[in-house]
Formats: sequence, structure tokens, C-alpha cells
Amino acid sequence: MSYDIRQQWLPKSKYPLKAPYAMTPKYVTIHNTWNDAPAKNEANFMLSNPKETGFHVAVDDVEVVELIPFNRNAWHAGDGLEGKGNRESIGIEICYSKSGGKRYEEAEANAIEYTAHVLVQLGLPPSAVKYHQEWSGKNCPHRILDEKRGAAFKRAIAERYEELKNPKPIVPQVVKPPASAVKIGSLITKQDVPAYARPEWGTQTGQVVRKGQTRHVYAVKNGWYQLFSGEWLPSQSGANFDYVPVKKSEPPRAEPPDVKPSLKRVIVDGKQVGAFSQQDSVLRGVSEALDGKAKNIRIEDV
Ligand SMILES: [Zn+2]
Repeated sequence: MSYDIRQQWLPKSKYPLKAPYAMTPKYVTIHNTWNDAPAKNEANFMLSNPKETGFHVAVDDVEVVELIPFNRNAWHAGDGLEGKGNRESIGIEICYSKSGGKRYEEAEANAIEYTAHVLVQLGLPPSAVKYHQEWSGKNCPHRILDEKRGAAFKRAIAERYEELKNPKPIVPQVVKPPASAVKIGSLITKQDVPAYARPEWGTQTGQVVRKGQTRHVYAVKNGWYQLFSGEWLPSQSGANFDYVPVKKSEPPRAEPPDVKPSLKRVIVDGKQVGAFSQQDSVLRGVSEALDGKAKNIRIEDV
């Protein structure tokens, strides 16, 4: 889809013939040319022929040619002198409809884009898009209707219109973890969690990790967890997902130290003088006993 917009206005001298009434457009009417000519030829033919019939715009695969200003009516809808199609609608012809094919498809894509812009420009809703058939019953735009794409074509215009009215915020750039980064854990989402480009609010990428999904984690920062894609998910105190760190290979566990101190009793000449848990105290007890001229000193485990 791409086109240039070119204006090749109907001379004012021909307004009485082809655009006699001032108009405030309320609708856009879509036509197929039922021909295999480019917009350039359709435009030249419409401007030069002596008939009353005309249209505002011709669209093909490369250009949009604007021919009658949108504040003048044109006779294109077949609904009579006072008909809304003829008096309140902008007529857009899509070229190459007779044989169809690639260039027609391109022309149709251009018509969708251009029509969406016209709606926005004129402040009209997508429901303002009509088919020639809706005004007069004629089988036009024949290719769109014959191929049963009437609803889809209008929906495509409405979707493009919505995009133009509500442009998506520019998605911040996501930086992937370095190639050397290793997985440090996994998370399993407990609800749908939007992804962020950076570990901070206001950087949503538009992606959502659905509830029940598992994702590998490569970094953790302030409650934000980085995925392989580079995006970050906020933990929100564990409300968003469960996190399971990778088990580190642990060194073989040493025997736990004996926490119960061994208690020694000191017996001097058959009489216990004390029970000590520390070596120093035992030695002190022994030396005091020697000072007291002890004959027999025994140290026993309690
Ligand atoms: Zn038509």
C-alpha cells in the first residue's frame, strides 16, 4: 500500500454540468470502475466527457487523483437529484476492478488507507462509508460485493480509522540480555502480565505473557525479571508470578560441628573438685590441685 495524491480539479466551468451543488459531505461512497484503466485514464475521461456523471476521486495501485472538491456534489450514486448518495457523499472509484489481480488489490488497499484518512479529515465515523449499491441497488463495487467482501472491506477501513484516531505510543526499544547471560531461574505467571522494555513503569511493549506461561529469567532488578526476549515483567510482590531460581551446584556438605561441649570432671584424691566444659578450666583445676599437693588427679568424661 502506497500512493501519491494528485489533484486534477474539474474546471469551474464544468461545475454546472458535473458538480452543480454545494455539499457538506456526510458519507463516502465506494465504487469499482468495472474497467481495466489506471486512475490517470479514468480521471481524464471523467473530466473531458460531456456527461453529467462524475466522481470525486479515482484510486489505483500507485496514485489517488482528486478531481472534484469535497464541497461540491457529483452524480455518482444513482439515487436521484435529492439522493444522499448524490448530494451528501464523496464518490471514490477503485480502478482495475474488471479483471482484478495484483494491481486491483493494491488499488483496493490504497482506497482503504485513503478513505480512512478522509474520514478522519472530515470528522466522519466509519459508518459513513457506503457502497454505491446501498444508494441505488446497483451491483457496485461489483468485485468487492461479488467476492463477498463487503463487510471485510468496511471493517478494514474502520480498523485503519481507529489506528489513525488512536495512534499507538512509540514502543520503547527492548534490549536483549547479552549472549553471555545465563538463565538464573524461571517464572510461572499467575495472571496475564504485560511486558516492559525496561525495568520501569511506562515502558510497556504491548506484549502480554498470558496466565500459566513459563519463562526463563536472565536478570532480576528491583522486583523486575528479565526474559530471554529482553523484556521485563514486574513481580508486584509476587502477585504476577511464582519465581523459581536455578539450583546452584552446592559443595558437599561438611559434617555439622558438635555443638554439645564435652564436659570433663576433675577428681583429686578421689574427690570431684569441679566439672568443666572448657579446656582452660580443666587445666586450671588441675594446676590448683597440684598446688594443693594432690597425690592423685583424674580427669573423666561426664
Ligand atoms: Zn458505482
